[in-house]
Amino acid sequence: MVPNQRSWDLDLIVDIFNSRDKELILQIPLSYRRESDVWYWLHDPCGVYSVRSCYKYLTHRDTNSSTRKVRNFLWRVATNVLPIADNLVRRRVDIMPTCSLCNACNETVTHALLECGFAKSCWISSAVGVLGHYSSFLDWLELIFSTYSWENCQLAAMVCWRIWIHRNDRLWNQRNISALQWQNARKQPFLADVDAVKGNHGAVCWEKPCFGWLKCNIDAAIFKAQGKFSNGCVIRNSGGDFVTARCECFPGIFGSREVEALGIREALSWIKRLQLPSVIIEMDNLQVFHALTENFSNPNGFGLIIEECRSLAMSLGEVQFSFVRRSVNSAAHSIARAGGSMSGPGEWSHVPPPCLLNYL
Ligand SMILES: [Zn+2]
Repeated sequence: MVPNQRSWDLDLIVDIFNSRDKELILQIPLSYRRESDVWYWLHDPCGVYSVRSCYKYLTHRDTNSSTRKVRNFLWRVATNVLPIADNLVRRRVDIMPTCSLCNACNETVTHALLECGFAKSCWISSAVGVLGHYSSFLDWLELIFSTYSWENCQLAAMVCWRIWIHRNDRLWNQRNISALQWQNARKQPFLADVDAVKGNHGAVCWEKPCFGWLKCNIDAAIFKAQGKFSNGCVIRNSGGDFVTARCECFPGIFGSREVEALGIREALSWIKRLQLPSVIIEMDNLQVFHALTENFSNPNGFGLIIEECRSLAMSLGEVQFSFVRRSVNSAAHSIARAGGSMSGPGEWSHVPPPCLLNYL
């Protein structure tokens, strides 16, 4: 660390550590206070090691529910137990063997997932493209896994899965979508982590603070692919007018509650620098709100960030914490997202940035 500063010594870290360790070190949020180091088990909410939490981590790592479904689906394809027309007819189920999407060929796995018109247009528009020479679906899969990068293998698996979902939707729900709508839909599983824990509680519309008070709406955004997160805050007065806004992006991959709590810590520290009195801190993360307002105490990373928020709030004039629905917090959400594409911190006074104009 840089002596007497709350920041990592980047040059020193680059000199000493390999790139993997460098990334891991830079992901550790640094405390505002002088805290002694403690051992903390990352895979338990309380930071305490247990065999159960370790087992859970080992069996579920890198696997959210959608990737588990895709793996299961690929296994079913590979073992030829997918309930596709060709398989069902061979098992003497009385159905038409033709493809339900094009009615032009018998529905085999290869046809449904790779060669049917709809499937083909999906592959053409993906980074995987259309492969020419394969004798079976397994042959195609082997070709993909032996020639493509890990990212594109994952993409290929996800495209297969989405084509199958579309086929079932068409067959059972008579729902039809264009390749463009499908392209947007297939991005959803990858983006799910950004908004996974947003709650739907609290006030339903933004309310002005009482006379003499300011309201600071805070939100955070996670950019998992780029390994960073950003937080944004917007301060308005009792007339509902824009006062000031700020956003900043940081390296690191944390859970959403940690990221939201870090955003509140940054905002409180900023409010302290601006010497603003009587501020309502409004957020849309219920877990963080409860941790800040109830007697939450944990020796883990999240607990320490919450303690720092509380200590900063105590050092300010008057501070209240408030929880709102996510839809009410759209101004803060918008500026937090804008922070992800900026090269450094952004700060605006009196005149709001363009990304806020629709929300004020
Ligand atoms: Zn077809």
